Amino acid sequence: MNKYWSRRLRSLVPYTAGEQPKGRKFIKINTNENPYPPSDRVLDAIKNAANDTLRLYPSINCDDLLNALAEEYGLEPSQIFAGNGSDEILAFCFPAFFNPGEAIVFADVTYSFYPVYAGLFDVNYRLIPLSEDFSLNVAEYCAPNGGVLIANPNAPTGIAVPLCDVEKILQANLDRVVILDEAYVDFGAESAVPLIDKYPNLLVVQTMSKSRSLAGLRVGYAMGDQELIKALRSVRDSINSYTLDRIAQAAAIEAVRDKDYFQKTCRKIVETRDKTAERLKALGFCVTDSRSNFLFATHETISAAELYGKLREQGILVRHFGLPRIENHLRISVGTDEEMDALVRALKQIISR
Ligand SMILES: *Cc1c(COP(=O)(O)O)cnc(C)c1O
Repeated sequence: MNKYWSRRLRSLVPYTAGEQPKGRKFIKINTNENPYPPSDRVLDAIKNAANDTLRLYPSINCDDLLNALAEEYGLEPSQIFAGNGSDEILAFCFPAFFNPGEAIVFADVTYSFYPVYAGLFDVNYRLIPLSEDFSLNVAEYCAPNGGVLIANPNAPTGIAVPLCDVEKILQANLDRVVILDEAYVDFGAESAVPLIDKYPNLLVVQTMSKSRSLAGLRVGYAMGDQELIKALRSVRDSINSYTLDRIAQAAAIEAVRDKDYFQKTCRKIVETRDKTAERLKALGFCVTDSRSNFLFATHETISAAELYGKLREQGILVRHFGLPRIENHLRISVGTDEEMDALVRALKQIISR
C-alpha cells in the first residue's frame, strides 16, 4: 500500500479466494469447483466460436444467451441479465440498489465477498447472526433495512432456506431489493425464480461456475423484474459494456441447452454428497444438512486446523476459514467418488493416530 492508493482502498480488505495450487498435484476439494468436465456440446461451441467474428465486439446484452435462459426458466429476456460470473453481478447490485447510510443486512456467517463489496461501494451493512445451528433468523430480515442479501443455500454452511421463508422476507421488504444468491441452488434447494412475477423487489442471481462445470468460463446471470434488470444494465454500461466475450456467450448457450448432461452431473454430485456425509458422521464428524456441492463439517475431538494441515500433507486440499464461529469447521467440496474415497481413507488414518 502506498500514498497513491485512494483512502477507500487503503482501508479495504479484499476477498481471499481459495488456493489454486501450482506444482504438486492435490485432490482439490477446496473451491467448490465441479469435479466433472463441461458438456462436450459446450466444448464444441467454444471451438466453433474461435473464428474471424472475434474481430467484432460481442452482443452487449448477450441476446442469444438471454433467449436460451428465458426459455429454460419461463421468463422474458427482459427479466434476465448476464454477467462475467455472478461475483461481478453481485458487485453491480451494490451501486444499482443500495444507498450509503441505509444499512443492508446479511448473515454473520455467509459468502465473505459481501462485506468487501459493501466496503468498495461505501454501503453500510448490519450482520444478522445465524442461529446456533446455522439456520437463518427469518424474523430479523423482516425488520426495516436498506436491502437484503441472502445466499441460498448458504455458503459455507450449505443450509437452505425454504421458499415459504423467502416469501415472508420478500413480503416484509416490498420497498427494498432482496437479492438471493443461488450459486448452489441446483444441488437440491428450492429456487425463488417462480416468485419473480409476483415480487418486483426480488433478484435471483445464479452462476454456471458450480452446477454447469464452468468456473473457468466466468458466466453468471440474474433474474428479476425488468426494472431491476435495467438497473444492472445501467451500472454495467457505466463500467464496461462488453463483460461477456463471444466465446463465453456461445459456450453458455450450449450449457443451458444440454439439460441432460447438467441434470446427470448434478444428480451424481448430490448422491456422492449424501453418501460422503454419512461416512463422515461415522467418523465422528458433525455435518450440516447441505443442499450444495460441499459439506460443512466439524469433528468431535480433532480441530479443523489440524485436520486441514494433515490432509494437506497427504495431498488433499479442503477449505478452512479462520473466522469467528466457524474456525473449527472444514468446507469440503464434493468431488468424484474416487476423490471422496481418498478423503475418507486419509481422515480415518488421521483420526486413528
Ligand atoms: C462461487 C460463488 C459465487 C461466485 O460465482 P462466480 O459465478 O464464479 O463468480 C457467488 N456466490 C457464492 C455464494 C458462491 O459460492
